[in-house]
Amino acid sequence: VKISLLNDFNFPSWVKHTKPSAIDDLIGYASQPDFISFALGLPDQSFLPKAVLTEVTNDIIENEIDAFQYSPPLEELKTEIVKLMHLRGVSCDEKQIFLTSGGQQGLNLLVTLLLERGQPVILEELVYPGILQSLKPFSPEILTVPTDLKTGMDVEAVERILKSGVKPAFIYIVADGSNPLGVNLALDKRKRLAELANTYGVPIIEDDPYGFLNYSNQLPCIKSFGGENIFYVGSFSKIFSPALRTGWVVVPECFLPLLVSLKESFDVNIATFGQRITMGLLRKNIFESHMQILCSAYRERRDKMILSLNQYFPTEISFETPDSGFFIWVNFIENINTTLMLEKSLNAKVSYIPSQSFSAIAGAKHTSGMRLNFSYSSSQQIEEGIKRLAETY
Ligand code: PMP
Repeated sequence: VKISLLNDFNFPSWVKHTKPSAIDDLIGYASQPDFISFALGLPDQSFLPKAVLTEVTNDIIENEIDAFQYSPPLEELKTEIVKLMHLRGVSCDEKQIFLTSGGQQGLNLLVTLLLERGQPVILEELVYPGILQSLKPFSPEILTVPTDLKTGMDVEAVERILKSGVKPAFIYIVADGSNPLGVNLALDKRKRLAELANTYGVPIIEDDPYGFLNYSNQLPCIKSFGGENIFYVGSFSKIFSPALRTGWVVVPECFLPLLVSLKESFDVNIATFGQRITMGLLRKNIFESHMQILCSAYRERRDKMILSLNQYFPTEISFETPDSGFFIWVNFIENINTTLMLEKSLNAKVSYIPSQSFSAIAGAKHTSGMRLNFSYSSSQQIEEGIKRLAETY
């Protein structure tokens, strides 16, 4: 007798409504031969500084066998992160840095710490699905604000919500190279959002995995304009490698004991090897040259994708040129449903993520957009993939 476990188990209601994400569905495709993936936010691991990585890794294996043990967070890595935060315009010290197993865990920890069940949160209408996954167990009231594709989150809409007396647990934002929209929040809006956080006593979770990947001038992060209630989430996933599972959050010092005990329930201190490799790479002083290599390679791929979009979709779509991050957001001018179009494009061996997968509130409002990743495929693949896409819709 076949038993449907999902129906028989008495799961809490949020679990019953959990569906696999489009991203999970599309991971498998990326490894098929001749498949071109514009779907996932993958860095190109061929840009890893292999010689230095080998040296650093060998040194850890030879001399620091504790790297394979449960061990306390690496204080020296925090010192390196303090220097990186300076580059993002933030002065902080080691006592405000908490190391995480990647940015996603930083989000999970902060959401768990700040959000009461059922409380409101402010998100953009189209949002990084990972934050939605973190929110789900808390069944929050999701309040959304629109995004301008040139200047980012509608901060006036945020202000209207706050003025109305609503007290959200936090505002979540990816201000640089937004995922999924690719936009950078304009400088004046950064300052205004930081002011609002301060005036209304509402925390901001600033998720910044792409803040160092800029293709024109870099803007200081929102945290640099504000105080203690702006919580910054950083990650080495896009800088070095997601497999290192190394990220951090910048929080007031008094948060650290809470985060320590909360993190213990997630995974204890097991990312030690990744942390040591990250620290070894940073100490070799390769950060700036490595970022230059990444930024110039990704800029070239971004430009190739824009060129190919203009060449193969001359009039049907609209898009902006992103100044940071990994994604170009494309809107179809006619009412094309990109969710329905996906099957045809998978048959043509090219993938993207349809706009509906990023809806903060489930519904059919955003149906004619798609997120295209340009960091992972070579220029040649980018041209071929865009050509295939243009033939499928
Ligand atoms: N936030 C955003 C906006 C992301 O795009 C990602 C990765 N796709 C993450 C957080 C999490 O990254 P990681 O856990 O690998 O640091």
